[in-house]
Amino acid sequence: MPVSNPPTTEFDAVIVGAGFAGMYMLHSLREQGFTARVYEAADGVGGTWYWNRYPGARCDVESLDYQYSFSDELQREWNWTERYATQPEILQYCNHVADKFDLRRDIQFETRVSSAVFDEEADRWTLETDQGDRVSARFCIMATGCLSAPRLPEFEGMDSFQGETYHTGLWPHEGVDFSDKRVGIIGTGSSGIQSIPLIAEQAEQLTVFQRTPNFSVPAQQEPLAPESVREHKDKFAELRQMARESAFGIAWESTANSALDATPDEREAAYDERWHNGGTAFLVAYADLITSKESNDTARDFFHAKIRETVEDPAVAALLSPTDHPVGTKRICVDTDYYGTYNRDNVTLVDISDAPIEAITPKGVRTGGIEYEFDAIVFATGFDAMTGALLKVDFRGRNGQTLQEKWEDGPRTFLGLSTAGFPNLFMITGPGSPSVLSNMLVSIEQHVGWIKDCMQHMRERDLDTIEATIEAENAWVQHVHDAGQETLFPQTDSWYVGANIPGKPRVFTPYIGGVALYAEECREVVANGYKGFALGSAQLAATS
Ligand code: FAD
Ligand code: NAP
Repeated sequence: MPVSNPPTTEFDAVIVGAGFAGMYMLHSLREQGFTARVYEAADGVGGTWYWNRYPGARCDVESLDYQYSFSDELQREWNWTERYATQPEILQYCNHVADKFDLRRDIQFETRVSSAVFDEEADRWTLETDQGDRVSARFCIMATGCLSAPRLPEFEGMDSFQGETYHTGLWPHEGVDFSDKRVGIIGTGSSGIQSIPLIAEQAEQLTVFQRTPNFSVPAQQEPLAPESVREHKDKFAELRQMARESAFGIAWESTANSALDATPDEREAAYDERWHNGGTAFLVAYADLITSKESNDTARDFFHAKIRETVEDPAVAALLSPTDHPVGTKRICVDTDYYGTYNRDNVTLVDISDAPIEAITPKGVRTGGIEYEFDAIVFATGFDAMTGALLKVDFRGRNGQTLQEKWEDGPRTFLGLSTAGFPNLFMITGPGSPSVLSNMLVSIEQHVGWIKDCMQHMRERDLDTIEATIEAENAWVQHVHDAGQETLFPQTDSWYVGANIPGKPRVFTPYIGGVALYAEECREVVANGYKGFALGSAQLAATS
């Protein structure tokens, strides 16, 4: 669609977002001599780690794996101090990267991209921001994150509460002092599970409103010995390569065995070992935990026993034990003393599975006809995941089609990188790529590399547009769906399927084929002349 007022500033690419994805995209494009401008809504870099400053926020992929690999110098000079880094440490790392590679000069902070319109005559995107910028770019690259649109439920009386309210994903920079306060927290996903033990230590009283319990594995957090960090640096390239060749982007020790082929004692020992080692590697204790309900039930029983062992009140232990979904089909949580926190005198668990929250009142929360009074309420209620940030931008593709229209029944992409009808629009870790089912740093680096190579390929051949074909997109959407159906994931009401947002189309969005297979599929597309994409050139069209 033609754009009437020509924009004043032109770039090869506009990148939206300055988290891990946007920062590395900028660095990569600059190295290849492309011009790029990043727009970032926050006033600093870091994305997830800029916004999620709640107490206890940490990564659940080990720090030594959850870092960039593109610069050996960077990984050698940075020293992680704990097994799972804290949010402040990860944010410090992001700032260090921004300084080291002098990224800020091409990032415009406190600026939200509001619209992006494809000009079919110029084969360029025109983007507008909430600060009044209007720029033109050949490529629009969305580095807006999968978990970056925080979500508040629409409870009646939401604005009536007279105390303080917080969302874990929009936490105040100065921190919050809960001392002597009566605090209510709604939500027991990863954010709730990380923050509850720390809030409980500070608050006078903490009331946890739980709609669905989650499976959580102890982090077995520990400081990293400088010696082992040094050793890891020498092996890092090799380990990262192993991670790229794995299913989840982490070089875990895994097995091809079924849980059902093991004796009960062998299983107990295997689960116990994973539990004591800590972290999400629990999920690869057996190869079929996410594909066989019967196998998964053995892991569920192990969790239930651990919860009963830890939580003194059997009724509370029962409430904390998930029975509605198989282990791992909601993101497995990683905690420090989560279950033990319910043994504290100042912590109360309120089960709202049968009696949903009726209203937020001026004094607190009302559920089951009871009003709970608080000084502060914490919403650990998650995100409009995968598509939330993308759909907040008013995209207009070919013929003025909006992305909202195109994705009305769920996101449709080719490889999670591109969507038909929206030429030169790339998504980093978009819907239909492994993204949230992987170590995101591995997936981000792979996508950024692919996009950079593609832009180079086009520049070398004087190509103006690249666009997924509808046939390739349909086939990919089907493939993502089929891969999901081979697992237990799609049946569970999780944010992976959009079930946390009323009215959101139910689609299992990430690609579960695994990081290695996915990267191979991306490479094959390139090796076959960008098969599945239509490449175009205005100049060549004019001369032919
Ligand atoms: P983000 O970090 O989400 O950055 C996106 C940026 O885009 C944000 O800064 C946002 O402000 C900006 N933005 C969005 N829309 C616009 C717009 N229209 N205009 C301008 N700017 C915009 N993954 C793991 O692999 N391991 C972990 O341990 C892990 N822990 C996590 C913990 C938390 C609390 C959360 C919420 C997520 C976690 N994740 C984890 C997922 C995490 O989001 C990714 O690992 C990674 O940080 C994503 O980086 P990103 O750059 O793609 O997106
Ligand atoms: P989440 O997993 O979506 O959890 C949200 C919680 O809020 C759930 O317990 C949900 O209950 C509850 N909730 C939502 N709406 C509600 C309502 N109307 N009434 C009552 N309860 C309601 O969100 P999150 O904890 O922020 O985590 C999101 C993702 O971010 C994670 O899965 C993970 O990928 C990432 N993350 C990672 C870490 C880490 O350890 N590194 C930490 C935080 C986040 P239901 O389950 O019943 O819907």
